[in-house]
Amino acid sequence: MKLANLQNLIFQFVVVKSVLVYPPPNPIKFPTSDQQTLINGDLLTDPLIVETVKHVESKVSPKILAIPPSTFIQDSTVTYNAPDPSAAGTCYWAVGQCLRSSDTSDFQADISICKNLNEWGVTYDDGPSTQVPGTKELLSELTSQKLLTTHFVVGTNVLLYPDLLKQIDAAGHQIGVHSWTHHPLTSLSNAQIVAEIKYTEGIIYKTIGKVPIYFRPPYGDVDDRVRAIISALGYKNVMWTIDSSDTSGIPNSEVTARMTKVFEGTNPDTNTSLTTGVITLEHDYLDNTVTSLAALNSYKTSSKLLKPQPVGQCQGLNSNQWYLNSDGSNPANKSGSTDPSKPNTSHSFKIQNILFIFTIIIVTFLF
Ligand SMILES: [Zn+2]
Repeated sequence: MKLANLQNLIFQFVVVKSVLVYPPPNPIKFPTSDQQTLINGDLLTDPLIVETVKHVESKVSPKILAIPPSTFIQDSTVTYNAPDPSAAGTCYWAVGQCLRSSDTSDFQADISICKNLNEWGVTYDDGPSTQVPGTKELLSELTSQKLLTTHFVVGTNVLLYPDLLKQIDAAGHQIGVHSWTHHPLTSLSNAQIVAEIKYTEGIIYKTIGKVPIYFRPPYGDVDDRVRAIISALGYKNVMWTIDSSDTSGIPNSEVTARMTKVFEGTNPDTNTSLTTGVITLEHDYLDNTVTSLAALNSYKTSSKLLKPQPVGQCQGLNSNQWYLNSDGSNPANKSGSTDPSKPNTSHSFKIQNILFIFTIIIVTFLF
């Protein structure tokens, strides 16, 4: 056994595990609604953030938290600095769309597909928005088609348009967290990533009284460091199978054609039949979103159709399992742990105990 692995195992037991507080404590103040202003200064020394960073440090290996941040260039563009972004290294999504398919002691697996072939997890990012069309028009079309979907909302927009978030929630859709500033998270410090999530969680809780269990990173900009912080804060990282390309600048008709193919069970990128249930990426504030959604109504007579639904539903959760319970436990965790960030506690606890005993034997043998 390598010394680094041994140190990591000892770390897992020496550091006192802390538990996230529920309901989430109010911050002293929320960040501004300006997405160009990164969260810094006294917003990072708020007890809410300081205590949550301690929690993250008690759960995640130091080597994961030491993965170097990328360098922000502009919008979604960063220069990635960790030496190996492949799956063997830090699994940086933007390089080969790397995903983690199984849980580790540092993070939970990514969600990127629906469980069954005929299921379509529909997601809308970046809302709520007041553009026309925007959230209101999207909600109206979803209601007229009797569809429920998942909405990953941005903290600045919830701060500006709380009534729109209430409308999304009241209509029965699933709400997830999509950061405060919509900045690429790999370029931020550990404390800033915590702040992006906790302030957004806080404004969502203040608005609708619920804490979501799903998180989507802006631009899909995620690596193992970001993944581990998301997991330590109790969230599942939700990516996607197919990008609608609604932000790419292609004509609305092409976005509609792509989403129609998905609806009919074809991958629009490869023109081959889908082999898994899918999760699609769309955005709340674009006219092609509503246009492509409205087009689905004309195709409903086809026999080979996927069933659009919220991601939570296609992961086997009913609607009362999309948010933390009133005691702070995560209803999606089989063990019913009261620590929302700890999946399958009893199982992992047993494994950890076995590893601990093994570590003690090795240490005794060596010294
Ligand atoms: Zn986004």
